[in-house]
Amino acid sequence: MPVKKIASDTLDFILESCKASHPHEFGALLEADGDIITNVIYLPGTEATNQSVSINTWMLPNMRHAGTVHSHPSGVARPSEQDLIFFQTGEINIIVGSPYKRNSWNAFDRGGNPIQVEIVDYDFPDEDDLMDDDF
Ligand SMILES: [Zn+2]
Repeated sequence: MPVKKIASDTLDFILESCKASHPHEFGALLEADGDIITNVIYLPGTEATNQSVSINTWMLPNMRHAGTVHSHPSGVARPSEQDLIFFQTGEINIIVGSPYKRNSWNAFDRGGNPIQVEIVDYDFPDEDDLMDDDF
């Protein structure tokens, strides 16, 4: 199922994380529930500098993920050449530019082509819901 949506709470969390990392880059992987991105996975060993995020790519084959997210503190929400290599691991790749607002991010496919991602409401299951499951 192609992932083309993101939960609004997850997007807000990403924007907050990018803001908190500024002036350094923030980088993480995205996890999806069906066709909706709902979760952000930090990778151990991720090194954030103000130049780039270097993720231990040797860890990637063992991890299922829907895509990637990272910030551009310079404010340019366009992929660099290095980003295009990183993008090949995930279906949706989000770049958030400073000042990290709802309108300061772009999403790209594996090939670095811009894609539209819909922001949707998503009910995050909590533990009570899981225990009430009668099926
Ligand atoms: Zn980048």
